[in-house]
Amino acid sequence: MIKIGVLALQGAVREHIKALQESGAEAVSVKRIEELNDLDGLVIPGGESTAMRRLIDKYNFLEPLKEFAQEKPVFGTCAGLILMAKRIQGQDHAHLELIDMTVERNAFGRQVDSFEADLHIEGVGEDVNGVFIRAPYIVEVGEEVEVLSVHNDRIVAAKQGHFLCAAFHPELTDDYRLHQFFVEMASQKKKVIA
Ligand code: GLN
Repeated sequence: MIKIGVLALQGAVREHIKALQESGAEAVSVKRIEELNDLDGLVIPGGESTAMRRLIDKYNFLEPLKEFAQEKPVFGTCAGLILMAKRIQGQDHAHLELIDMTVERNAFGRQVDSFEADLHIEGVGEDVNGVFIRAPYIVEVGEEVEVLSVHNDRIVAAKQGHFLCAAFHPELTDDYRLHQFFVEMASQKKKVIA
């Protein structure tokens, strides 16, 4: 069985675990570095990216996460997407720097603090329910990044090799298609590594 961890420093951990289980994976929360060892993939949940980065630093997770990501699939949602970006608009530093993209935080503005939208997601399906909460969006992507979904002319989901990211919260709905897509990515990758 594919085993996926959910980084449990902050954010909607339980909901991701449920979505992964419903997608046929074994799912565990990850609070300690050693818990990365036997995983086939990792989800970085939403929350607040600067707070999450502080916790990542506090528990010395930055290098182990970067090392994990060299071979293993990572799926970041919302703040998790921000953590995965190589560039953050208006900031001179980024975090894990995994995906060749620039993101803007809180990009949909205060007046639309949160909203839902039905999304077309390439390779995943139609009418995928996206819950956006103080969501970032992807401003631009490098050549190796596949844009998977665009909402109101803004990129809201993308994939680069074994990295997947979404600006919204798929774990807050019971539409598990994006989690299934990630579990499938992890199982394909496991076959390649084996
Ligand atoms: N606005 C948050 C940030 O900048 C992300 C919001 C979320 O994860 N729901 O980190």
